[in-house]
Amino acid sequence: MHEIYDSIQGESTLAGTPCTFIRLAGCPLRCGYCDTTQAIPTDSGEWMAMEAIIAEVKRQGRPLVLVTGGEPLAQKQCIELLKELGKLDCIVQLETSGAYLIDQVPESVHRIVDIKTPGSLEVERNRLENLALLTANDELKFVITSRDDYEWVRQFIVEYNLAACEATLLMSPAYGSVAGSDLCAWMLEDRLPARMQLQLHKVIWGAQATGV
Ligand code: SF4
Repeated sequence: MHEIYDSIQGESTLAGTPCTFIRLAGCPLRCGYCDTTQAIPTDSGEWMAMEAIIAEVKRQGRPLVLVTGGEPLAQKQCIELLKELGKLDCIVQLETSGAYLIDQVPESVHRIVDIKTPGSLEVERNRLENLALLTANDELKFVITSRDDYEWVRQFIVEYNLAACEATLLMSPAYGSVAGSDLCAWMLEDRLPARMQLQLHKVIWGAQATGV
């Protein structure tokens, strides 16, 4: 466990919702825009018993809990954690890099799956088998670092017929690399079947804040 804390969800279709964040330690990827580098080392956290995690989530009593990282699916016990969280009276989201198969994630969990663009420097990590596993509960997220990245995503949406995908498509400008106004203009011009999102927590608390 890297950290567990109380805040609002800053991204996804549930942005703005009070949320308990469970940030697991460790990630094998090295995205150029990573804003949680502090959680990348596997030793950046401490072991926390499953019962203690569930007790803390219950104590906070939020309508939403997000399991994130790092890369949460890099930890084998993440699936067990998701199953335990699924027994609680709240929505459970999982944010994952898309570098791991999501087939073992319980159906009730809302999966937010990244598709890494070339600008992330980790495009080879995409497990494209995940595309066929997505449901209307899920969200597919693209972080755009440049106009080239945007063009790559546009082609990707066509190539994999994502206009017909049940999952919500999300596009985020990489903080400090692409202006939100530019991304908006490109999406409107091309009539992309996607939603634009900003990182609400950075708007509220600033780009450098952690644990919020
Ligand atoms: S997958 Fe996420 S946590 Fe891992 S390096 Fe990329 S942005 Fe950072």
